Amino acid sequence: MPEGSLKDCALCGRELAEPCTKHHLIPVSEGGKGTTTVMLHKICHDKIHRVFTEKELKKKYYTIDLIQSSQSIREFVEWIRKKEPGYYDRSFRQKKR
Ligand SMILES: [Zn+2]
Ligand SMILES: [Zn+2]
Repeated sequence: MPEGSLKDCALCGRELAEPCTKHHLIPVSEGGKGTTTVMLHKICHDKIHRVFTEKELKKKYYTIDLIQSSQSIREFVEWIRKKEPGYYDRSFRQKKR
């Protein structure tokens, strides 16, 4: 699939930097083994999994476009775009619980 660049985060569109991780569009736990993956900043990846359950990802948010159509993801992208590509706040995971 000639879509975007491998060097950019699929979610926020910024250049990739460590820490970055692979996201399965269909979660492995939901039968997504061997399916399409996208590279994301760790912080972007964590965000997706905080907003959606694996079942929601499989049923409703199985493409980046669908994920980006969510209001909370759009707000996150607005915010993260202003940060350094390598930005990762260790306390981020615990916020908003
Ligand atoms: Zn990102
Ligand atoms: Zn993931």
